[in-house]
Amino acid sequence: MDNLVLVMLLKDLVILPFQEIKIELKDEISKKIIKVSNKKYNNRVLIVTPNTNTLTPSIADLPLVGVIAVIKNKLELSNGNLRLTLRGEKRVRILNYKAFSDDIISAYFCDIVLPKFEANGEEVIKNKLRDNLNSYIESSPNISNSILKVVNDNDDLSFLCDAITTFLPLKPKQKMQYMQEVNPEKRALSLIKDIKTEIKHIELEEKIDNNIEIRLSKEQEEYYLKEKLKEIELALGDAKEYDDEIKEYYDKLNTLDLDKKTFTKLYESITRLKNLSSNSPEHGVLKNYLDWTLNLPWNTLSKENLNVKSVLNKLNKSHFGLNEIKSRIEDYINIKNINPEISSPIICLVGPPGIGKTTITESIAHALNREYYKISVGGLNDATELVGSRRTYLGSLPGKIIQAIKKCNTKNPVILIDEVDKMVKDYKGDPASTLLDILDSTQNVHFVDNYIEEPFDLSQVMFVLTANDIKDIPYPLYDRLEIIELSSYNIFEKVDIAKKYILPKIYDEFNMSRKLLIKDETIMYIINNYTKEAGVRDLERILKKLITKLITSTKSLVVGELEVVKYLKEGESLENKEINNSGVVNILAYTNIGGDVTRLECSIFNGDEKVILTGQLGEVLKESVMVALSFIREKNYVSNTMFYDHTLHIHFLSSSLKKDGPSCGVAIVTVILSKLLDVVIGNDVSFTGEISLKGDLIKVGGLKEKLIAAYNYGIKKVYIPFDNEKDLKEIPKVVLDSVEIKLVKNYDTIFNDLFNRQKK
Ligand code: ADP
Repeated sequence: MDNLVLVMLLKDLVILPFQEIKIELKDEISKKIIKVSNKKYNNRVLIVTPNTNTLTPSIADLPLVGVIAVIKNKLELSNGNLRLTLRGEKRVRILNYKAFSDDIISAYFCDIVLPKFEANGEEVIKNKLRDNLNSYIESSPNISNSILKVVNDNDDLSFLCDAITTFLPLKPKQKMQYMQEVNPEKRALSLIKDIKTEIKHIELEEKIDNNIEIRLSKEQEEYYLKEKLKEIELALGDAKEYDDEIKEYYDKLNTLDLDKKTFTKLYESITRLKNLSSNSPEHGVLKNYLDWTLNLPWNTLSKENLNVKSVLNKLNKSHFGLNEIKSRIEDYINIKNINPEISSPIICLVGPPGIGKTTITESIAHALNREYYKISVGGLNDATELVGSRRTYLGSLPGKIIQAIKKCNTKNPVILIDEVDKMVKDYKGDPASTLLDILDSTQNVHFVDNYIEEPFDLSQVMFVLTANDIKDIPYPLYDRLEIIELSSYNIFEKVDIAKKYILPKIYDEFNMSRKLLIKDETIMYIINNYTKEAGVRDLERILKKLITKLITSTKSLVVGELEVVKYLKEGESLENKEINNSGVVNILAYTNIGGDVTRLECSIFNGDEKVILTGQLGEVLKESVMVALSFIREKNYVSNTMFYDHTLHIHFLSSSLKKDGPSCGVAIVTVILSKLLDVVIGNDVSFTGEISLKGDLIKVGGLKEKLIAAYNYGIKKVYIPFDNEKDLKEIPKVVLDSVEIKLVKNYDTIFNDLFNRQKK
């Protein structure tokens, strides 16, 4: 019979017309069906998918539509299975099933007659189907476009539908419905719907995929980096230490009470360090930065001692005199006790070396229970030394101020800024104006060091500055400072300091149980013969040396002039030659080491009429010589003809001193006259004062230092300008008691005193 075929039941597998499938059969019934079909039914079988999942479906479970398939290929495999290639031929309607044998079913079938379609309608559906299929293929790069050729080359709707159904990734159940639906229009419409759904699925999947991918890739990347980092750290053997270190940084940060911006910046820096490989060059730079910044005393303050009595006791114990600075500190404490918010004064101690500027500042810090640090700015010309350099520079560091703060480890230390008069302004910048910003309490609350980059509060620091010469303090700075001038010590003060401060300090230092037996006269002998200074630094050095010699070479601690001479080298004794000749005078100078006594010499010899000046003089001093000469000649103190065929040589001794300034005119006139009139002036007279062309004496500065120096030198009479009279109230009584001060308006007075009586 033409329309009878054997039935092959395939579970979960649907074959559609024109579709090829490969299957492997292992059961004997199937193999028999193939065999019989091959022999009796022209290699054709009816493929039927039961509507049930039961293992042995009954005929009632079988559908009424099936597909006739041609057995295209069969291959018996070594394992006994039979591999087949089946190709769907046509959809048929099943008329009825009947048993072919005990275990094989056969079926009668007929071809399906398709309903007639409206021509246009079919075209529209086909186009729609093709369009949707196109969109579907375009929606994902993973879908093969091979189907396009098939659907474009064929125009039969039923064929198109079956081809597309085969192509789409539908579930078996859906495919079975398509297989059983004979109406191609219905199938087409249903397919369009399914294609659209598929497109939606793809879009959705893509979206989900993207999200998952992004998340995955970020996580993966982080994971990858972390693993890599661990690997490196492990290789270096310090992975754990590294983690601990980062934790320590975070912990440290949490202990600090920082403003939000600074906190965030440091937090981010630690996090950046965490993510950096320790091999990276930035690692070291960042670590150094964090070590600096996190260890600054952001919130650490010393508890200040504001007990006036105890502070003054301490200061008096450590330093003789210096009453002005002591009383300024007393005022500060009194005010601070009333108003704790008051900012510290910015004091500048001015005076010659060795008079206690540095050590009193240190004592102030200790007495107030603040930390102490000294910064030297002498010769400094680069402001970055104060405020640091940017981290981008190799080897960059914070400036001296932040370094001081870190060393002190408190935010309210006493910082001594030494030698502000010796800062240099040049192309590298103006450190004085930078210093001004640092000191100004309205600005220094938010002091920003270039390296640290975050504001640090300096407003509670007590700054004390020092200078030797008030004239050399940069003016804008000078304007903001509380200047306290400290003067040289006279010989009695020096003896006092030696007995009460220096010697006890040395005993302590040398751990001596016995004290020196030394008279005041011996100390004076040492001062006069072995020191030439405004302060007591050399005296301290000499006494230390003497004691060292004594305790190492003799058991006796009795010291007189003999012992001094014996134990201190000849060379250390200062020359103090008598003036026995004309043409030599003592002059009083005010230098940056304080007052000083030096000598002026004059000689005259036959030769051209000219003046030779030696001793490295400044311009002002050279002019003073010219004025002196003109004055002498106009006054006719000596015969003018003397000058015609003589050369005059004037020499200022002590070439190491800076020699300039208008205060030597009187001494110059005197030394020339002494030479020309051959009058010996002697050792115990000296002069200070500038002179006008008419012989008037002009007021000078530094009188106190000069007179103390004269006194220390043993000078008995000093001529000074009358206009300096009011400065005499500053001169220590002991000086006034032993030095005769002659106030002079015009040189005539001096001439009458020194030359007139002896004029030849
Ligand atoms: P400056 O800073 O003015 O150059 P220092 O403070 O360094 O001087 O003092 C030098 C030495 O002299 C120190 O050992 C110091 O103790 C001592 N000294 C200076 N002035 C006094 C003083 N008034 N009382 C006690 N010792 C002093």
